[in-house]
Amino acid sequence: MHLPKAAENAIRLLNEQGYEAYLVGGCVRDTQLGIPPHDWDICTSATPEEMQKVFAAFRTVETGLKHGTLTVLMEGEPLEITTFRLDGEYLDNRHPKEVTFTRSLENDLSRRDFTVNAMAWHPEKGLVDLFGGREDCKKGVIRCVGDACTRFEEDALRILRALRFAARFRFRVEDETKKAIFEKKHLLRHISAERIAAEMNGLLPAPGAVDILAEFHEAVFAAVPAMAMEVTAFRQALAVLDFIHRQPALCWCALLSPFAPEKAKDVLQQLKTPLRLQEDVFSLLFFRHMEITESTLQLALMHIGDRLIIPLLSLQYALTAAEKKADEAALKERLHRLTAAAQQLIDEKACYTLSALAVKGGDLAALGIRGPAIGKTLHQLLETVCRGEAENQRDPLLALAKSMVLKDNG
Ligand code: ATP
Ligand code: MG
Repeated sequence: MHLPKAAENAIRLLNEQGYEAYLVGGCVRDTQLGIPPHDWDICTSATPEEMQKVFAAFRTVETGLKHGTLTVLMEGEPLEITTFRLDGEYLDNRHPKEVTFTRSLENDLSRRDFTVNAMAWHPEKGLVDLFGGREDCKKGVIRCVGDACTRFEEDALRILRALRFAARFRFRVEDETKKAIFEKKHLLRHISAERIAAEMNGLLPAPGAVDILAEFHEAVFAAVPAMAMEVTAFRQALAVLDFIHRQPALCWCALLSPFAPEKAKDVLQQLKTPLRLQEDVFSLLFFRHMEITESTLQLALMHIGDRLIIPLLSLQYALTAAEKKADEAALKERLHRLTAAAQQLIDEKACYTLSALAVKGGDLAALGIRGPAIGKTLHQLLETVCRGEAENQRDPLLALAKSMVLKDNG
């Protein structure tokens, strides 16, 4: 295992003061899987106060001292160091009533969720694997540590964590764990909307998401009841998701594609996702059937804006590809062609917003146009330019504005 200097130093400093310390959790799992870890968590027998003494010479952040976590900044790198813990009795299917610190690594590992997440590693002692995590990494299995039903009763969020990890690594969920997921899925209703949204956001863009969502749709609907739909509709949504790559907003569009835009937005609102995501998903679904060709691209840009035009093209591609009616290569070619054309319009600052229009409200006021007619006329001019029926030049547009107003009044 190739660990960064900072982590090695932290472990050595703790060991020198007589405390046990190990790398633990995600970084050990990822290393077993041959994936570079994105952070390095350390667990130790030292209590938070003892840790503060050991790291007195370093900058520290009291991330969650109550839960035993101290962040130490070493060589610019933040390291999370957590005291070995025993979670007490669980309340509300999510939170332990109390957290007890322990001097036993075994206790700490046995409270962790899955065998693949419950391994520790020490630079000299090597791997500590009490629950067969290494074997499960090899076999590609997500399995609870201990009795799966009990573990999901303690913390129902683990159900979604299991699905997220399985989707991320394309692992299968071991039979007992799978049975327990279906048996305990109703407990997901006790989990906060924010936590559910965070897990879903991790799950949806994962490589194995489609298969896991198909296999565990009942658990997903238990977590997000507003999303419950007919199995055939869900299967169609997953077929769309299969053609989407990573972007969370697009993943949500795929999953919620059987719904009207309002309903999709409502689902995301109930999950308390950021307003921006709700609005993006709404717009993309609202315009999903808009016919876009090279000649209507500028008009499409006017409607959906430059931030969402390329996602919209990707969504349209996924929606049509999922229907399996058109040739996939031809659809892909269309996607690439239109994406390049859209990017070109954006880069050359083509006119698709009022601010780019060569005529402003003041110009229209000078012509004697008043009140709401100003805004209306500006929009008409913009649309005419976007349709390619007029150049974006001041004088011809002013002449056009006059004729529009005359026509309106006549
Ligand atoms: P990621 O790469 O997604 O960060 P991770 O394994 O580091 O994966 P975290 O959510 O960061 O996952 O949690 C760190 C570790 O803490 C896990 O590996 C696991 O051992 C433990 N853990 C986290 N959440 C729970 C939970 N709800 N129940 C039990 N153990 C948990
Ligand atoms: Mg982590």
